[in-house]
Amino acid sequence: MKKISIIVPVYNEEAVIEKFLNQQLIPEINKITTYQFSIVLINDGSKDKTLEILQKFTTKDKKIKVISFSRNFGKEVALAAGMNYAKSADAVIMIDSDGQQPPKLIPKFIAKWEKGAEIVTGVRSRFTKHGLIQRTGSKVFYWLLNRLGDTDTVPGSTDFRLIDKVVVAEYNKLTEHNRITRGLIDWLGFRQEQIEYVYGERMAGEPSYNLKKLIKLAIDSIVSMTTRPLLILGFFGIFLIIITSLLLLFWLFEQVLFNDPLSLNWDGLTILGIFTTFLAGMILLSQMIMALYISHVHSETQNRPLYIIDEKNSRNL
Ligand code: UDP
Ligand code: MG
Repeated sequence: MKKISIIVPVYNEEAVIEKFLNQQLIPEINKITTYQFSIVLINDGSKDKTLEILQKFTTKDKKIKVISFSRNFGKEVALAAGMNYAKSADAVIMIDSDGQQPPKLIPKFIAKWEKGAEIVTGVRSRFTKHGLIQRTGSKVFYWLLNRLGDTDTVPGSTDFRLIDKVVVAEYNKLTEHNRITRGLIDWLGFRQEQIEYVYGERMAGEPSYNLKKLIKLAIDSIVSMTTRPLLILGFFGIFLIIITSLLLLFWLFEQVLFNDPLSLNWDGLTILGIFTTFLAGMILLSQMIMALYISHVHSETQNRPLYIIDEKNSRNL
């Protein structure tokens, strides 16, 4: 029987975790008898009673495991720990512990996987109720990410995913610290399919991702996926250099060599202004050159593998 590990990051969820496990996740997987499931709960340094509740489940049910962090390391790291632990499973499913990602979709994820998808991604459907700020924020985020980054991420992609063991093995080789699970999985490639779902309401409790954390997450994803923002100001610098060089040349011919036939009477201040702007352009350009070197250092230190081989499709190796 194929093994499937469900990994659930849990942080300060005493208000909801018991309900989520008892009413949603456990009944759902008990219905599926053709796979051997395990549930890996990662306690991400909760400060409330979450850990006690999780441990209570493990004494009743051997397929439920708890990994407990010594402090809060963040959801991305919790997911990484889950995937490290779940190495021997044939597939891993990541799901939030607050009921916003409905476990009743698990059979659909498995069905797509059985048909050959190596990654099945849950995508927020457009029917999801969303505040205006959240909606625009997420649009801007995916627009930026896809514009600036090298990998395509389907807008609305969430961490509710099923991942085949070949992808888990590749994921576990990645060593970078500032990681965004979604972005990294998309970077790995492989055959990905999507399932749309309505991102539900929290069953109870408060989300721990506030605006500040979300902005940090967005910046982290963009910084870790791309270095292109570094170049934008440099291009602006080049633009300034071209414009001011033309103006300076014009000044040289019109005023200095031909004695101002157009009677423009440029004074010292104008020349000074043009010259200062020229220098500003030079500074931006030299920053861009420095940025290019930094971006090389950046990608070297990320230490990502050079390529990922899809062994299933390679032959006679
Ligand atoms: N979570 C975590 N560590 C954190 C923050 C959140 O493990 O530092 C977990 C949390 O318990 C939940 C999931 O990550 O299962 C998503 O968090 P939340 O519901 O707060 O954010 P949302 O993405 O729904 O806004
Ligand atoms: Mg949530």
